[in-house]
Amino acid sequence: MSRVYNFNAGPAVLPLEVLEEVQAEFLDYQNSGMSIIEMSHRTPTYEALNAQAEQDLKDLLGLGEDYRVLFMTGGATTQFSLLPMNLLAAGETADYAVTGMFAQKAFQQAQKIGSAHAAVDLAAEGFKRAPAVSEMKFSDRQAYLHITTNNTIYGTAWREYPDFGDRTLVADMSSDFLSHPFAADKFSLIYAGAQKNLGPAGTTVVIIKKSLLAKSPENLPEIFSYNVYAKNDSLYNTPPVFAVYVVAKVLKWLKKNGGLAAMGELNGKKAALIYGLLDRWPEFYRGHAQTASRSMMNATFRLPTEELEAKFVQQAEAAGFVGVKGHRSVGGMRISMYNALPLEGCAKLAQFMEDFYKKNA
Ligand code: PMP
Repeated sequence: MSRVYNFNAGPAVLPLEVLEEVQAEFLDYQNSGMSIIEMSHRTPTYEALNAQAEQDLKDLLGLGEDYRVLFMTGGATTQFSLLPMNLLAAGETADYAVTGMFAQKAFQQAQKIGSAHAAVDLAAEGFKRAPAVSEMKFSDRQAYLHITTNNTIYGTAWREYPDFGDRTLVADMSSDFLSHPFAADKFSLIYAGAQKNLGPAGTTVVIIKKSLLAKSPENLPEIFSYNVYAKNDSLYNTPPVFAVYVVAKVLKWLKKNGGLAAMGELNGKKAALIYGLLDRWPEFYRGHAQTASRSMMNATFRLPTEELEAKFVQQAEAAGFVGVKGHRSVGGMRISMYNALPLEGCAKLAQFMEDFYKKNA
């Protein structure tokens, strides 16, 4: 067996230890004589797994009884619609910080459902930075403020969250969830598709303040209702059992390996290796993000010519570095360095980048 260094943006690398555990217990989960994906979700075994995953996630985030964790389906994209369906009432406006393509999509879906307003829109600037609160224009009767903490395609993020005041703060954290310590209790709702830092595609985690659950309209179809999901402990219908099971294992792995503080430290070291080269040869490795808004998860850069970019991708892949090609809307390279990517992966890629510079600059 040989495993590559996986820089994919998502689905992405998962901890080897977790994959090995999944493999080892796949045919016979906890002496049940069947795999987890063959088992009813209405069993004490699955219910215990589901409840433990909720508790472990709240422990990692330091959240207490005033929050619920929902394991939903349909990707983060489904949340773009469910969020306003549940939390945007008539007479209110939802404010969106449009900081990237996914933020833009979230904003567009909210506009179909109710009154939504762009508090700030960085599209014209090419999404190169995280905005300040002082440049945002907020609505009266604000239902919530929606932010995207890490813009996966552009490789921008807030290095520290600014003070958003006592707003109902909602965040799409799909691409930097659990990657660094932060004050989770400042957020009223957080959602994240699992397939980057959490597990396989198939479940989307929604963390919601209990006090918001009453806002889900009574006439909302039940399958779309956060309140119904919470009342049923995410078991209103058949959940994505395999995805939740792997997420539960990743959460245990995170706890065992020092939680968010340890991840923040590791991710900082990995990112420094890659960004160090952008700072050293900025005319060659041309970073997309402004320095103060660099993402710790996705480093994006271009090279002087498209020919060199194609050569970089091809030689990187031949050397065992997978998934370094950038998103088509930015071009160039995107190096995704999620929690499970070992430090060694970034160190080896940094060496490759240094050699590539020396041969091609
Ligand atoms: N938001 C962000 C920040 C993302 O990176 C992505 C996917 N890459 C999405 C939303 C959409 O997620 P999904 O494909 O799970 O619907």
